[in-house]
Amino acid sequence: MLHDRFFIGNQWAKPATDAQFTIKNASTGETVGTTAEAGTADIDAAVIAARSAFDEGEWPRLAPSERARIMRRFAEELRKRAPLTAEAVSTQNGMPISISGAFEGDVAPNILDYYADLADEMVLEDVRPSQFGTETFVQRLPVGVVAAIIPWNFPVNLSLVKLGPAMAAGCTMVIKPSPGTVLDSYVMAEAALAAGVPAGVLNWVPADREVGQYLIEHPGIDKVAFTGSTAAGRKIAARCGELLRPVTLELGGKSAAILLEDTDLDTFTQGIPTACLLNNGQTCYLGTRILAPKSRYDEIVEAVAGFVGALKVGDAMDPETHVGPLASEEHRARVERYIEIGKTEGRLVTGGRRPGASQGGWFVEPTVFADVDNGATIAREEIFGPVLSIIAYEGEEQAIEIANDSDFGLGGSVWSQDKAHAKAVAEKVHTGSIGLNGYVISVGSPFGGIKQSGMGREFGPEAMNAYQTYKSIFAMN
Ligand code: NAD
Repeated sequence: MLHDRFFIGNQWAKPATDAQFTIKNASTGETVGTTAEAGTADIDAAVIAARSAFDEGEWPRLAPSERARIMRRFAEELRKRAPLTAEAVSTQNGMPISISGAFEGDVAPNILDYYADLADEMVLEDVRPSQFGTETFVQRLPVGVVAAIIPWNFPVNLSLVKLGPAMAAGCTMVIKPSPGTVLDSYVMAEAALAAGVPAGVLNWVPADREVGQYLIEHPGIDKVAFTGSTAAGRKIAARCGELLRPVTLELGGKSAAILLEDTDLDTFTQGIPTACLLNNGQTCYLGTRILAPKSRYDEIVEAVAGFVGALKVGDAMDPETHVGPLASEEHRARVERYIEIGKTEGRLVTGGRRPGASQGGWFVEPTVFADVDNGATIAREEIFGPVLSIIAYEGEEQAIEIANDSDFGLGGSVWSQDKAHAKAVAEKVHTGSIGLNGYVISVGSPFGGIKQSGMGREFGPEAMNAYQTYKSIFAMN
């Protein structure tokens, strides 16, 4: 594995320029190394490799079950490297190692197995009768060369959830990791090489956003799969609109955790780490607006503040850590700006500062504001850090109204001892997904947003739609 190269056409390709990313440890602020940074010439080389693998190579022409076999080997090679992957992610973005070990290391490869199973069952052609008594052959074809743009928060999952359906469909890809998490992409590339994924099918070129924009506009690209902020997504969507290039957008969120009157507070507080604060708050679907009934408001504020205030903040590599540092100094500054705004908009009940023993890492204490109005900046904008707002409501209808009064519609949760009741409330929330008494994404179920949280779905069989196109052959006699 060579961090001064790119993975293009199954070769460790020499960069066209000397540009480099400096890789820092989020927990200490120390520089841990450098990696090559792609420029436009490197993107050209990666697109040429992916284009040639698609236009002339074996991959799109293999039987889907043969692609499935290679995908399962790729998953296996990733599993062998799970500790490396987890360490790479946690070093760079501050994700506690207990979370990266499970989510990014152990579980992420299952996504490839899931889409390998779908490839095994894939029907490439069916014959349909027409209204004139003739027949039509309907074919499912891979959409072509995919540009995948990856954010830094869950880089392995958010890569594999694009690679899985794209590979199953027979697409080839140019993958652009975020400068915020580059090291894990080398582990993925090494696993793909060891698994025998044919040359040019997967190409990794870490680059900044300007070069990323060059990639999504490249004439050799047929489809764009983007996960990241709503601001970047809007820009990419506009460009893809002009180019009439298919694009899926998985964007930001500001989801609501609705606590109904009969919520068991122990259940809720135990669910906070995954449903409201996962990865130090650096997760798109988190319920960062906690909606609490007025009748139980003080009790809820006390329980949430008590639980969040007792979480262990520390080095991402420490298995005991609940909340690690933020991904970068700039990101911490952004989160701290929101905390300052929050102090003018609500009542700070816990956190809000840098913890004493930060030792150069980009830490902020997990923070809870009470008495927040849903119109407040901290209730409307995505903070992407460990900052929760507790908003009071009177009556269930108002809770639903507040939950829906958001520019976003990505995740959320409803908490109640009566599951049927919680489900009935969940059905009224305008969102792409929602949890009952918790929130965990499932590989077999579609995930994605409505409103400013995006367009299209990842996970589940539904994700295949983005990577396949259809061709109808009308047989007249
Ligand atoms: P970001 O938008 O700054 O960057 C995401 C990726 O896009 C990076 O690789 C970046 O280099 C690239 N990029 C940015 N502008 C681009 C452009 N114009 N053309 C091409 N590439 C461009 O986001 P981030 O800070 O890396 O990630 C955090 C954001 O991602 C949050 O808003 C979060 O909610 C969102 N996110 C959404 C989901 C989801 O599934 N909906 C999942 C994870 C993260």
